[in-house]
Amino acid sequence: MKAIVVGAGISGASAAFLLKKLNYDVLVIEKLRIGGKAYSVAQNGYVIETGPNGFLENKKEILNLVYESGFEKELIEANKESQRRFIYSKNKLWELKNNPISLLFNGFFSIGGILSFLEEPFVRPLLEDETVEDFVLRRFSKEMLNKLIGPMVCGVFAGDPSRMSMESNFPRIKEVEKEHGSLIRGLIDLMIKRKARASSAKGSLSANLLSFKNGVLSFIEHLLNGVDVVFDEIGEITKNEKFYLKGKTANYSADIIVFAIPSYALTKVFWDADREFAKAVSSVEYAPMSVLAFGFNKEGLPDIVNSFGYLFNLEEIEDIIGVLFDSSIFKGRAYKDKMLIRCMVGGALRKNSPFKSNLFEIGIKELQRSASIFLPPEFFYKLVHPKAIPQYSLGHKNVLNSVKDFEDKNKGLFITGNAFWGISLNDCVKASYDLIERVGG
Ligand SMILES: Cc1cc2nc3c(=O)[nH]c(=O)nc-3n(C[C@H](O)[C@H](O)[C@H](O)COP(=O)(O)OP(=O)(O)OC[C@H]3O[C@@H](n4cnc5c(N)ncnc54)[C@H](O)[C@@H]3O)c2cc1C
Repeated sequence: MKAIVVGAGISGASAAFLLKKLNYDVLVIEKLRIGGKAYSVAQNGYVIETGPNGFLENKKEILNLVYESGFEKELIEANKESQRRFIYSKNKLWELKNNPISLLFNGFFSIGGILSFLEEPFVRPLLEDETVEDFVLRRFSKEMLNKLIGPMVCGVFAGDPSRMSMESNFPRIKEVEKEHGSLIRGLIDLMIKRKARASSAKGSLSANLLSFKNGVLSFIEHLLNGVDVVFDEIGEITKNEKFYLKGKTANYSADIIVFAIPSYALTKVFWDADREFAKAVSSVEYAPMSVLAFGFNKEGLPDIVNSFGYLFNLEEIEDIIGVLFDSSIFKGRAYKDKMLIRCMVGGALRKNSPFKSNLFEIGIKELQRSASIFLPPEFFYKLVHPKAIPQYSLGHKNVLNSVKDFEDKNKGLFITGNAFWGISLNDCVKASYDLIERVGG
Protein backbone atom coordinates (compact mmCIF):
# COMPACT_ATOMS: atom_id res chain seq x y z
CA MET A 1 0.00 0.00 0.00
CA LYS A 2 1.26 3.44 -0.88
CA ALA A 3 0.96 6.46 1.43
CA ILE A 4 1.74 10.09 0.72
CA VAL A 5 2.41 12.53 3.54
CA VAL A 6 2.25 16.20 2.56
CA GLY A 7 4.44 18.37 4.83
CA ALA A 8 7.72 17.47 6.55
CA GLY A 9 7.39 19.25 9.89
CA ILE A 10 7.20 17.22 13.10
CA SER A 11 3.57 16.29 12.30
CA GLY A 12 4.35 14.94 8.83
CA ALA A 13 7.65 13.29 9.81
CA SER A 14 6.14 11.48 12.80
CA ALA A 15 3.16 10.33 10.71
CA ALA A 16 5.52 9.14 7.94
CA PHE A 17 7.66 7.20 10.43
CA LEU A 18 4.63 5.49 11.97
CA LEU A 19 3.09 4.68 8.57
CA LYS A 20 6.38 3.11 7.50
CA LYS A 21 6.22 0.93 10.59
CA LEU A 22 2.79 -0.21 9.39
CA ASN A 23 4.56 -1.32 6.18
CA TYR A 24 3.25 1.46 3.99
CA ASP A 25 5.43 2.52 1.10
CA VAL A 26 5.71 6.21 2.13
CA LEU A 27 6.47 9.31 0.07
CA VAL A 28 6.78 12.68 1.82
CA ILE A 29 6.17 15.81 -0.25
CA GLU A 30 7.57 19.03 1.21
CA LYS A 31 7.36 22.54 -0.19
CA LEU A 32 10.24 24.30 1.53
CA ARG A 33 12.40 22.57 4.12
CA ILE A 34 12.44 19.49 6.32
CA GLY A 35 11.52 20.45 9.88
CA GLY A 36 8.96 23.12 9.05
CA LYS A 37 8.80 25.41 12.09
CA ALA A 38 11.22 23.12 13.93
CA TYR A 39 14.29 24.20 12.02
CA SER A 40 17.70 24.20 13.72
CA VAL A 41 20.73 26.01 12.34
CA ALA A 42 24.38 25.35 13.29
CA GLN A 43 26.53 28.44 12.73
CA ASN A 44 29.74 29.85 14.27
CA GLY A 45 29.64 27.28 17.08
CA TYR A 46 26.02 28.09 18.00
CA VAL A 47 23.06 25.70 17.62
CA ILE A 48 20.13 28.00 16.97
CA GLU A 49 16.54 26.87 17.18
CA THR A 50 14.44 29.02 14.88
CA GLY A 51 11.34 27.38 16.36
CA PRO A 52 10.81 25.07 19.35
CA ASN A 53 13.70 24.55 21.73
CA GLY A 54 12.35 21.43 23.39
CA PHE A 55 9.47 19.50 24.87
CA LEU A 56 8.27 18.55 28.33
CA GLU A 57 8.98 15.11 29.68
CA ASN A 58 5.60 14.81 31.42
CA LYS A 59 3.74 13.90 28.22
CA LYS A 60 4.62 10.51 26.90
CA GLU A 61 4.05 10.63 23.14
CA ILE A 62 7.17 12.30 21.79
CA LEU A 63 9.38 10.43 24.23
CA ASN A 64 7.77 7.16 23.07
CA LEU A 65 8.63 8.09 19.51
CA VAL A 66 12.21 8.94 20.46
CA TYR A 67 12.66 5.46 21.93
CA GLU A 68 10.63 3.72 19.23
CA SER A 69 12.86 5.26 16.56
CA GLY A 70 16.11 4.62 18.50
CA PHE A 71 17.10 8.27 18.99
CA GLU A 72 17.35 8.26 22.80
CA LYS A 73 21.15 8.67 22.81
CA GLU A 74 20.66 12.14 21.32
CA LEU A 75 18.35 13.34 24.11
CA ILE A 76 19.53 16.14 26.36
CA GLU A 77 17.95 17.51 29.50
CA ALA A 78 17.67 21.18 30.46
CA ASN A 79 20.24 22.23 33.07
CA LYS A 80 18.76 22.17 36.56
CA GLU A 81 20.66 25.38 37.44
CA SER A 82 18.90 27.31 34.70
CA GLN A 83 15.33 26.78 35.86
CA ARG A 84 14.70 30.28 37.23
CA ARG A 85 12.12 32.19 35.18
CA PHE A 86 11.17 35.85 35.39
CA ILE A 87 8.55 38.40 34.38
CA TYR A 88 9.63 41.89 33.38
CA SER A 89 7.27 44.31 35.06
CA LYS A 90 7.57 47.83 36.45
CA ASN A 91 11.10 48.12 35.03
CA LYS A 92 12.47 45.07 36.78
CA LEU A 93 12.67 41.29 36.54
CA TRP A 94 10.58 39.38 39.08
CA GLU A 95 11.35 35.74 39.75
CA LEU A 96 8.50 33.24 39.36
CA LYS A 97 9.16 30.72 42.09
CA ASN A 98 7.71 27.20 42.01
CA ASN A 99 5.20 28.33 44.60
CA PRO A 100 2.91 31.01 43.08
CA ILE A 101 1.90 32.17 46.57
CA SER A 102 5.34 33.78 46.92
CA LEU A 103 4.36 36.32 44.24
CA LEU A 104 1.56 37.60 46.44
CA PHE A 105 3.83 38.93 49.11
CA ASN A 106 6.88 40.29 47.32
CA GLY A 107 5.39 43.48 45.89
CA PHE A 108 4.73 42.02 42.44
CA PHE A 109 0.95 42.39 42.81
CA SER A 110 -0.92 45.37 44.20
CA ILE A 111 -3.31 44.96 47.15
CA GLY A 112 -6.19 44.77 44.62
CA GLY A 113 -4.42 41.94 42.78
CA ILE A 114 -3.88 40.03 46.03
CA LEU A 115 -7.54 40.48 46.98
CA SER A 116 -8.71 39.11 43.61
CA PHE A 117 -6.58 36.05 44.27
CA LEU A 118 -8.13 35.55 47.71
CA GLU A 119 -11.66 36.03 46.34
CA GLU A 120 -11.23 33.51 43.50
CA PRO A 121 -12.50 30.46 45.43
CA PHE A 122 -15.87 32.23 45.78
CA VAL A 123 -16.38 32.96 42.06
CA ARG A 124 -18.91 30.65 40.45
CA PRO A 125 -17.69 28.38 37.63
CA LEU A 126 -18.87 28.95 34.06
CA LEU A 127 -19.56 25.88 31.98
CA GLU A 128 -19.46 27.46 28.51
CA ASP A 129 -16.32 28.26 26.58
CA GLU A 130 -14.95 31.80 26.87
CA THR A 131 -11.81 33.70 25.92
CA VAL A 132 -8.72 33.46 28.10
CA GLU A 133 -9.11 37.15 28.90
CA ASP A 134 -12.74 36.76 29.99
CA PHE A 135 -11.80 33.76 32.12
CA VAL A 136 -9.02 35.61 33.94
CA LEU A 137 -11.09 38.79 34.40
CA ARG A 138 -14.03 36.76 35.72
CA ARG A 139 -11.97 34.72 38.17
CA PHE A 140 -9.15 37.15 39.01
CA SER A 141 -8.32 40.64 37.75
CA LYS A 142 -6.87 42.71 34.94
CA GLU A 143 -3.63 42.82 36.87
CA MET A 144 -3.43 39.02 36.94
CA LEU A 145 -4.04 39.02 33.18
CA ASN A 146 -1.37 41.58 32.39
CA LYS A 147 1.30 40.42 34.78
CA LEU A 148 1.02 36.65 34.92
CA ILE A 149 -1.44 34.77 32.71
CA GLY A 150 -1.15 37.07 29.70
CA PRO A 151 2.67 36.89 29.52
CA MET A 152 2.53 33.08 29.70
CA VAL A 153 -0.14 32.86 27.01
CA CYS A 154 1.82 35.26 24.89
CA GLY A 155 5.09 33.40 25.51
CA VAL A 156 3.80 29.92 24.73
CA PHE A 157 1.14 30.55 22.08
CA ALA A 158 2.23 33.97 20.78
CA GLY A 159 -1.47 34.53 21.39
CA ASP A 160 -3.92 37.30 22.14
CA PRO A 161 -5.82 36.39 25.34
CA SER A 162 -8.86 38.35 24.15
CA ARG A 163 -9.24 35.99 21.15
CA MET A 164 -8.05 32.62 22.45
CA SER A 165 -10.52 29.93 23.49
CA MET A 166 -10.11 28.63 27.03
CA GLU A 167 -11.47 25.19 26.18
CA SER A 168 -9.37 24.68 23.07
CA ASN A 169 -6.10 25.96 24.56
CA PHE A 170 -6.44 25.09 28.24
CA PRO A 171 -8.98 22.26 28.46
CA ARG A 172 -7.46 20.99 31.70
CA ILE A 173 -7.87 24.34 33.46
CA LYS A 174 -11.53 24.56 32.42
CA GLU A 175 -11.99 21.02 33.76
CA VAL A 176 -10.32 21.93 37.06
CA GLU A 177 -12.71 24.87 37.37
CA LYS A 178 -15.70 22.61 36.71
CA GLU A 179 -14.52 19.84 39.05
CA HIS A 180 -13.42 21.98 42.01
CA GLY A 181 -15.54 25.10 41.52
CA SER A 182 -12.34 27.13 41.94
CA LEU A 183 -9.00 27.16 40.21
CA ILE A 184 -7.04 27.79 43.38
CA ARG A 185 -8.72 24.96 45.27
CA GLY A 186 -8.15 22.69 42.27
CA LEU A 187 -4.50 23.66 41.91
CA ILE A 188 -3.79 23.17 45.61
CA ASP A 189 -5.39 19.73 45.37
CA LEU A 190 -3.32 18.88 42.28
CA MET A 191 -0.12 20.10 43.94
CA ILE A 192 -0.75 17.95 47.01
CA LYS A 193 -1.41 14.89 44.85
CA ARG A 194 1.63 15.53 42.67
CA LYS A 195 3.84 16.10 45.68
CA ALA A 196 2.72 12.78 47.13
CA ARG A 197 3.43 11.06 43.80
CA ALA A 198 6.77 12.82 43.39
CA SER A 199 7.98 11.92 46.87
CA SER A 200 6.77 8.33 46.62
CA ALA A 201 8.53 7.97 43.26
CA LYS A 202 11.50 10.05 44.48
CA GLY A 203 10.78 12.22 41.48
CA SER A 204 10.63 15.96 41.03
CA LEU A 205 7.58 18.19 41.14
CA SER A 206 8.11 19.96 37.85
CA ALA A 207 8.48 18.34 34.42
CA ASN A 208 11.90 18.38 32.79
CA LEU A 209 12.45 20.10 29.49
CA LEU A 210 14.18 17.87 26.94
CA SER A 211 15.73 18.41 23.55
CA PHE A 212 18.35 16.89 21.24
CA LYS A 213 22.12 17.47 21.12
CA ASN A 214 22.03 18.84 17.59
CA GLY A 215 18.64 20.52 17.81
CA VAL A 216 15.03 19.50 17.20
CA LEU A 217 15.58 19.27 13.44
CA SER A 218 17.99 16.35 13.96
CA PHE A 219 15.10 14.26 15.34
CA ILE A 220 12.82 15.09 12.41
CA GLU A 221 15.59 14.20 9.95
CA HIS A 222 16.11 10.95 11.85
CA LEU A 223 12.40 10.08 11.56
CA LEU A 224 12.62 10.57 7.81
CA ASN A 225 15.72 8.39 7.41
CA GLY A 226 14.81 5.74 4.86
CA VAL A 227 11.63 7.57 3.77
CA ASP A 228 11.47 9.03 0.24
CA VAL A 229 11.15 12.81 0.31
CA VAL A 230 10.51 15.03 -2.72
CA PHE A 231 10.48 18.82 -2.71
CA ASP A 232 7.34 20.09 -4.38
CA GLU A 233 4.39 22.29 -3.48
CA ILE A 234 0.99 20.60 -3.63
CA GLY A 235 -1.53 23.04 -5.05
CA GLU A 236 -4.64 21.00 -5.74
CA ILE A 237 -6.36 17.68 -5.19
CA THR A 238 -8.72 15.89 -7.59
CA LYS A 239 -10.59 12.60 -7.43
CA ASN A 240 -11.10 10.08 -10.19
CA GLU A 241 -11.45 6.65 -8.55
CA LYS A 242 -8.24 7.54 -6.68
CA PHE A 243 -7.15 10.92 -5.25
CA TYR A 244 -4.57 12.83 -7.30
CA LEU A 245 -2.30 15.55 -5.96
CA LYS A 246 -1.14 18.23 -8.32
CA GLY A 247 2.31 19.57 -7.50
CA LYS A 248 4.29 22.32 -9.20
CA THR A 249 6.65 19.79 -10.76
CA ALA A 250 4.69 16.50 -10.84
CA ASN A 251 1.41 14.76 -10.04
CA TYR A 252 1.08 12.10 -7.34
CA SER A 253 -1.37 9.45 -6.18
CA ALA A 254 -1.52 6.91 -3.38
CA ASP A 255 -3.88 4.65 -1.45
CA ILE A 256 -3.91 7.04 1.48
CA ILE A 257 -2.87 10.68 1.78
CA VAL A 258 -2.01 12.47 5.01
CA PHE A 259 -2.02 16.27 5.03
CA ALA A 260 0.32 17.71 7.67
CA ILE A 261 0.38 21.28 6.38
CA PRO A 262 -0.88 24.57 7.85
CA SER A 263 -4.59 25.34 7.60
CA TYR A 264 -4.13 28.17 5.06
CA ALA A 265 -2.24 25.70 2.81
CA LEU A 266 -5.09 23.18 3.20
CA THR A 267 -7.58 25.87 2.18
CA LYS A 268 -5.66 26.42 -1.05
CA VAL A 269 -5.39 22.71 -1.85
CA PHE A 270 -9.11 21.99 -1.23
CA TRP A 271 -10.59 25.22 -2.61
CA ASP A 272 -12.01 23.55 -5.72
CA ALA A 273 -12.46 20.02 -4.36
CA ASP A 274 -14.36 20.84 -1.14
CA ARG A 275 -15.17 24.53 -0.67
CA GLU A 276 -16.99 24.01 2.62
CA PHE A 277 -14.02 22.25 4.23
CA ALA A 278 -11.58 24.75 2.72
CA LYS A 279 -13.54 27.63 4.27
CA ALA A 280 -13.92 25.89 7.64
CA VAL A 281 -10.17 25.40 8.07
CA SER A 282 -9.40 28.90 6.80
CA SER A 283 -10.87 30.27 10.03
CA VAL A 284 -7.72 29.22 11.93
CA GLU A 285 -5.61 32.37 11.97
CA TYR A 286 -1.84 32.51 12.52
CA ALA A 287 0.27 34.85 14.62
CA PRO A 288 3.54 36.03 13.07
CA MET A 289 6.84 35.87 14.91
CA SER A 290 10.51 36.55 14.32
CA VAL A 291 13.24 34.75 16.18
CA LEU A 292 16.40 36.76 16.87
CA ALA A 293 19.51 34.89 18.01
CA PHE A 294 22.35 36.88 19.57
CA GLY A 295 25.74 35.38 20.42
CA PHE A 296 27.86 37.07 23.10
CA ASN A 297 31.17 36.56 24.80
CA LYS A 298 30.02 35.34 28.19
CA GLU A 299 32.50 37.27 30.27
CA GLY A 300 30.98 40.42 31.71
CA LEU A 301 27.34 39.47 31.11
CA PRO A 302 24.94 39.94 34.07
CA ASP A 303 23.94 36.95 36.22
CA ILE A 304 20.42 36.86 34.73
CA VAL A 305 21.83 35.04 31.66
CA ASN A 306 22.32 31.96 33.85
CA SER A 307 18.54 31.54 34.11
CA PHE A 308 15.89 30.17 31.72
CA GLY A 309 14.63 33.53 30.52
CA TYR A 310 11.79 35.97 30.96
CA LEU A 311 8.42 37.17 29.67
CA PHE A 312 6.83 40.61 29.73
CA ASN A 313 3.97 42.29 31.54
CA LEU A 314 1.50 42.78 28.64
CA GLU A 315 1.44 46.53 29.28
CA GLU A 316 5.21 46.73 28.92
CA ILE A 317 5.71 44.77 25.68
CA GLU A 318 7.36 46.85 22.99
CA ASP A 319 8.15 44.35 20.21
CA ILE A 320 9.67 41.37 22.03
CA ILE A 321 7.43 38.95 23.93
CA GLY A 322 10.03 36.62 25.41
CA VAL A 323 13.77 36.25 25.96
CA LEU A 324 15.42 32.83 26.35
CA PHE A 325 18.96 32.12 27.51
CA ASP A 326 19.33 29.09 25.27
CA SER A 327 22.91 28.13 26.05
CA SER A 328 22.15 28.23 29.78
CA ILE A 329 19.09 26.02 29.26
CA PHE A 330 20.84 23.36 27.15
CA LYS A 331 24.49 22.38 27.09
CA GLY A 332 26.10 22.52 23.67
CA ARG A 333 24.09 25.42 22.24
CA ALA A 334 27.26 27.59 22.32
CA TYR A 335 30.97 27.24 23.12
CA LYS A 336 31.69 27.36 26.86
CA ASP A 337 32.84 30.99 26.85
CA LYS A 338 29.89 32.16 24.70
CA MET A 339 26.22 32.81 25.38
CA LEU A 340 23.30 32.27 22.99
CA ILE A 341 20.24 34.43 23.67
CA ARG A 342 17.02 34.19 21.67
CA CYS A 343 14.41 36.93 21.50
CA MET A 344 10.87 36.16 20.28
CA VAL A 345 9.37 39.11 18.44
CA GLY A 346 5.72 39.86 17.73
CA GLY A 347 2.94 37.33 18.15
CA ALA A 348 -0.75 38.16 17.95
CA LEU A 349 -0.37 41.22 20.20
CA ARG A 350 2.36 42.87 18.10
CA LYS A 351 1.56 41.72 14.58
CA ASN A 352 3.73 44.31 12.80
CA SER A 353 6.83 43.83 14.92
CA PRO A 354 8.25 40.67 13.22
CA PHE A 355 8.43 42.50 9.90
CA LYS A 356 10.28 45.61 11.08
CA SER A 357 13.50 46.33 9.22
CA ASN A 358 15.56 47.14 12.35
CA LEU A 359 15.13 43.88 14.28
CA PHE A 360 18.81 43.78 15.28
CA GLU A 361 18.54 47.20 16.96
CA ILE A 362 15.19 46.25 18.51
CA GLY A 363 16.76 43.17 20.10
CA ILE A 364 19.81 45.04 21.39
CA LYS A 365 17.66 47.83 22.86
CA GLU A 366 15.39 45.32 24.59
CA LEU A 367 18.30 43.37 26.10
CA GLN A 368 19.67 46.65 27.44
CA ARG A 369 16.32 47.80 28.85
CA SER A 370 15.15 44.58 30.47
CA ALA A 371 18.31 42.53 31.16
CA SER A 372 20.99 45.23 31.48
CA ILE A 373 23.06 43.57 28.76
CA PHE A 374 25.21 46.35 27.36
CA LEU A 375 28.01 44.32 25.74
CA PRO A 376 27.93 44.16 21.94
CA PRO A 377 27.00 40.76 20.44
CA GLU A 378 29.58 38.90 18.35
CA PHE A 379 26.94 37.02 16.34
CA PHE A 380 23.42 37.62 15.03
CA TYR A 381 20.91 35.43 13.17
CA LYS A 382 17.23 35.98 12.50
CA LEU A 383 14.33 34.12 10.96
CA VAL A 384 10.92 35.62 10.24
CA HIS A 385 7.90 33.31 10.48
CA PRO A 386 5.09 35.29 8.76
CA LYS A 387 2.64 32.65 10.02
CA ALA A 388 4.30 31.21 13.10
CA ILE A 389 1.67 29.74 15.41
CA PRO A 390 -1.99 28.87 14.74
CA GLN A 391 -4.47 30.51 17.10
CA TYR A 392 -7.34 28.49 18.51
CA SER A 393 -10.08 31.05 19.02
CA LEU A 394 -13.69 30.63 20.15
CA GLY A 395 -15.32 28.24 17.69
CA HIS A 396 -12.22 26.09 17.24
CA LYS A 397 -14.34 23.10 18.21
CA ASN A 398 -16.39 23.65 15.03
CA VAL A 399 -13.20 23.49 12.97
CA LEU A 400 -12.32 20.16 14.59
CA ASN A 401 -15.80 18.85 13.80
CA SER A 402 -15.33 19.87 10.16
CA VAL A 403 -12.06 17.95 10.05
CA LYS A 404 -13.72 14.86 11.53
CA ASP A 405 -16.66 15.08 9.07
CA PHE A 406 -14.22 15.55 6.22
CA GLU A 407 -12.26 12.41 7.12
CA ASP A 408 -15.51 10.43 7.49
CA LYS A 409 -16.61 11.56 4.03
CA ASN A 410 -13.27 11.00 2.30
CA LYS A 411 -11.96 7.56 3.12
CA GLY A 412 -8.21 7.50 2.57
CA LEU A 413 -7.62 11.19 3.32
CA PHE A 414 -6.31 12.21 6.75
CA ILE A 415 -5.72 15.61 8.28
CA THR A 416 -3.20 16.42 10.99
CA GLY A 417 -0.80 19.24 11.94
CA ASN A 418 -0.56 21.90 14.61
CA ALA A 419 -3.55 23.85 13.26
CA PHE A 420 -5.95 21.44 14.93
CA TRP A 421 -5.01 19.18 17.82
CA GLY A 422 -2.49 21.24 19.78
CA ILE A 423 0.58 23.27 18.95
CA SER A 424 3.33 21.70 21.05
CA LEU A 425 5.73 19.13 19.62
CA ASN A 426 4.13 16.67 22.01
CA ASP A 427 0.63 17.45 20.73
CA CYS A 428 1.77 17.10 17.10
CA VAL A 429 3.29 13.66 17.79
CA LYS A 430 0.23 12.56 19.77
CA ALA A 431 -1.92 13.59 16.79
CA SER A 432 0.20 11.29 14.59
CA TYR A 433 -0.31 8.34 16.94
CA ASP A 434 -4.07 9.08 16.91
CA LEU A 435 -4.00 9.31 13.12
CA ILE A 436 -2.32 5.91 12.86
CA GLU A 437 -5.20 4.44 14.87
CA ARG A 438 -7.65 5.92 12.35
CA VAL A 439 -5.61 4.60 9.43
CA GLY A 440 -5.50 1.17 11.05
CA GLY A 441 -9.23 1.28 11.78
C1 LIG B 1 9.18 30.36 17.20
C2 LIG B 1 8.46 29.12 17.67
C3 LIG B 1 8.79 28.57 18.90
C4 LIG B 1 8.14 27.41 19.34
N1 LIG B 1 8.51 26.84 20.54
C5 LIG B 1 8.00 25.64 20.89
C6 LIG B 1 8.54 24.93 22.01
O1 LIG B 1 9.49 25.37 22.66
N2 LIG B 1 7.99 23.72 22.31
C7 LIG B 1 6.99 23.17 21.57
O2 LIG B 1 6.54 22.06 21.90
N3 LIG B 1 6.47 23.82 20.50
C8 LIG B 1 6.95 25.03 20.14
N4 LIG B 1 6.48 25.67 19.03
C9 LIG B 1 5.38 25.05 18.26
C10 LIG B 1 5.87 23.91 17.37
O3 LIG B 1 7.17 24.14 16.95
C11 LIG B 1 4.99 23.79 16.12
O4 LIG B 1 3.63 23.77 16.49
C12 LIG B 1 5.31 22.53 15.33
O5 LIG B 1 6.69 22.46 15.05
C13 LIG B 1 4.47 22.51 14.05
O6 LIG B 1 4.72 21.33 13.34
P1 LIG B 1 3.82 20.90 12.09
O7 LIG B 1 4.53 19.78 11.43
O8 LIG B 1 2.42 20.69 12.51
O9 LIG B 1 3.78 22.18 11.13
P2 LIG B 1 5.00 22.86 10.32
O10 LIG B 1 6.25 22.76 11.09
O11 LIG B 1 4.50 24.21 9.95
O12 LIG B 1 5.14 21.94 9.04
C14 LIG B 1 4.29 22.03 7.92
C15 LIG B 1 5.13 21.75 6.68
O13 LIG B 1 4.27 21.72 5.54
C16 LIG B 1 4.96 22.33 4.45
N5 LIG B 1 3.95 22.76 3.45
C17 LIG B 1 3.07 23.79 3.55
N6 LIG B 1 2.29 23.84 2.45
C18 LIG B 1 2.68 22.83 1.64
C19 LIG B 1 2.24 22.37 0.37
N7 LIG B 1 1.25 22.97 -0.29
N8 LIG B 1 2.87 21.30 -0.19
C20 LIG B 1 3.88 20.68 0.46
N9 LIG B 1 4.33 21.07 1.69
C21 LIG B 1 3.73 22.13 2.26
C22 LIG B 1 5.70 23.48 5.10
O14 LIG B 1 6.76 23.93 4.29
C23 LIG B 1 6.16 22.85 6.41
O15 LIG B 1 7.44 22.27 6.29
C24 LIG B 1 7.12 26.82 18.54
C25 LIG B 1 6.79 27.39 17.31
C26 LIG B 1 7.45 28.52 16.87
C27 LIG B 1 7.11 29.10 15.51
